[in-house]
Amino acid sequence: MDIVFSQVDHCYMKGTPFEKVALKDFSLTIPSGSFTAVIGHTGSGKSTFIQHINGLLRPSSGTVQVGSYVIKAGEKKVNLKGLRKEVGFVFQYPEHQLFEETVEKDITFGPVNFGLSKEKAQKRARELMPLVGLQEELLSVSPFQLSGGQMRRVAIAGVLASRPSVLVLDEPAASLDPEGRVNIMNLFYDYHKTHQTTTILVTHHMEDAAKYADQIIVLHNGMVEMIGGRELIFERVSRLNEIGLDLPKSVSFLQNIKKKFELSEVPMEFDVKG
Ligand code: ADP
Repeated sequence: MDIVFSQVDHCYMKGTPFEKVALKDFSLTIPSGSFTAVIGHTGSGKSTFIQHINGLLRPSSGTVQVGSYVIKAGEKKVNLKGLRKEVGFVFQYPEHQLFEETVEKDITFGPVNFGLSKEKAQKRARELMPLVGLQEELLSVSPFQLSGGQMRRVAIAGVLASRPSVLVLDEPAASLDPEGRVNIMNLFYDYHKTHQTTTILVTHHMEDAAKYADQIIVLHNGMVEMIGGRELIFERVSRLNEIGLDLPKSVSFLQNIKKKFELSEVPMEFDVKG
């Protein structure tokens, strides 16, 4: 499902001395089935932005459209349950959201809550275990007996179990070592490719944005500073530097980029000495 923001503003604590405009005149489209990366400094509005996609936050003005769901500023009646079934959220440290007695109960909680029979939800849980890199035997154990990495995979399976059409990932690989990060990111990328899930990744890692995303959105001071394909990274390097978003200068990053865009030369700005 397409996601369309039309002239959206979001203001926290409106009318108080602490009033803060966190999104200004936000207009953008995230095409159905795309993989979009959202980058920007802390405070640039990333989390305010993504929380509009499942109605956790409402626009102060403007309209957010997610498929057939329309959320207009000031409108009270929104079918949030339907929207939240369609939009899966993986927050930072999703393992903190585990609470059930067993892994199976945690994974099936979402789909059962959305009306799926227990048996069908359990079947989904069994199918998801290998997909998230866990052994099926773990379904019967307490999630709190697992390692941190395993807990995160259980939490991810719990989000995927509702088969969302849109997946919002807020730094899903936060605090993982490089290998763990690649594993988790590949898991989401494979899932996206297999199910054509519209995927929105909030990340501080330019490498991940360049590696996985078809579309990149750069936020700055609550505004859409840039939006476009990955090649945008090359076209506006100096502006990215100006707003403090430095690109990694590692040789492997540059080689990957070169390969990805089939460039014979790395643009001048990327030239690394030695
Ligand atoms: P990011 O996710 O890019 O770090 P946020 O969307 O969290 O950015 O924040 C955007 C701006 O809104 C920041 O200035 C932040 O301080 C402010 N903000 C975020 N949440 C709240 C809140 N609940 N109340 C007031 N201001 C907030």
